[in-house]
Amino acid sequence: MEITQNIPFNKPYLTGKETNYIKDAVSTGKISGNGKYTKLCQDYFENKYNFKKCLLTTSCTDALEMAAILAEIKEGDEVIAPSFTFVSTAIAFIRQGANIIFADSYPNNPNIDASKIEALITTKTKAIVPVHYAGIACDMDKIMELANKYNLLVIEDAAQAIDSFYISKDGTKRALGSIGHMAAFSFHETKNVISGEGGMLVVNDNKFEKRSEIIWEKGTNRAEFFRGEVNKYGWVDTGSSFLPSDIIAAFLFAQLENLEDIQAKRAQHWNYYHKLLLPLHENGTISLPNINDYASNNAHMFYIVCNNLEERQALIEKLKANQVLAVFHYLSLHKSTFYQKRYYGETLSNSDHFSDSLLRLPLFYELTEENVAFITNIIIEFYKK
Ligand SMILES: *Cc1c(COP(=O)(O)O)cnc(C)c1O
Repeated sequence: MEITQNIPFNKPYLTGKETNYIKDAVSTGKISGNGKYTKLCQDYFENKYNFKKCLLTTSCTDALEMAAILAEIKEGDEVIAPSFTFVSTAIAFIRQGANIIFADSYPNNPNIDASKIEALITTKTKAIVPVHYAGIACDMDKIMELANKYNLLVIEDAAQAIDSFYISKDGTKRALGSIGHMAAFSFHETKNVISGEGGMLVVNDNKFEKRSEIIWEKGTNRAEFFRGEVNKYGWVDTGSSFLPSDIIAAFLFAQLENLEDIQAKRAQHWNYYHKLLLPLHENGTISLPNINDYASNNAHMFYIVCNNLEERQALIEKLKANQVLAVFHYLSLHKSTFYQKRYYGETLSNSDHFSDSLLRLPLFYELTEENVAFITNIIIEFYKK
């Protein structure tokens, strides 16, 4: 007998407390930004992960835009980023007039290949934007070393990297997002902890601290005013309305209270996928995620790397015929409709390989062991032929 499972790619998980906190936020009568729940969330992150200053934003894209403003990126500046990433990584800097200098991924890991960065640095380079793909750390020691040597800013795109760490050679663990001068996180419903849409800017370098609050609050010094540090507030700088309503923060806070549970559940699914698919990796049929010694795994994503585009498409169809939704990921940004005419760099073959061959499997809280076994069986059967 066929059991139909109908497994979506993602299903946002609700802890059950979201609506309680939202009701509480609404009942206080103060539901605009920078309220009680916003502070609770920001304090949580600052204390738990040693982030210097956190500001909730309406998205990770917004947080990256704030970072680009704070970094004073302007017309003609160059920003080094991977090509295998989401549009937002690049667009925040494009909006400031920068040129994105795309770097290739590693052959066995979609992250920016740190050994390729130095050759791309010019007198116009202002920042490096590493993306911790699938929540797996980039080589941050190497990247920070280059940034120090050439006086560049590092802005971590940590959209997928909540509760993930970089492990130094001496064994010290630092949270991703706490290492660069600034970092951006996402709480979009596809990430580990969510608020529908939502994000956060982390400011680790004090020199950006004061200005970050001003840009966050429409170019005003309102935050200082409410702390009683100035006796009137007004327009003092550029900025926008980057702060979310406290209703969004209330939703997020419920998720944060359950973060350990969410992470444990995701890790369980991830490890089970890994165990069942390891034989296919070991006999060279497919590749599984490669996690360096310096990286932890926050189980944001489980992906496999097929051999080519045709094979991946056939596998997607086979899974779909069994009502399992598996999806590919980014198209290399240097080949996008928007950027390809301005791209004069070299071929980024590793990035292109992940564009063609990487396949993401369903991973969400309510997935069951039975689901994972069902999905991996389809993959194993597919490769038997
Ligand atoms: C999800 C994601 C973003 C965008 O996050 P939003 O909160 O939707 O703006 C940016 N970069 C990466 C790498 C992402 O995965």
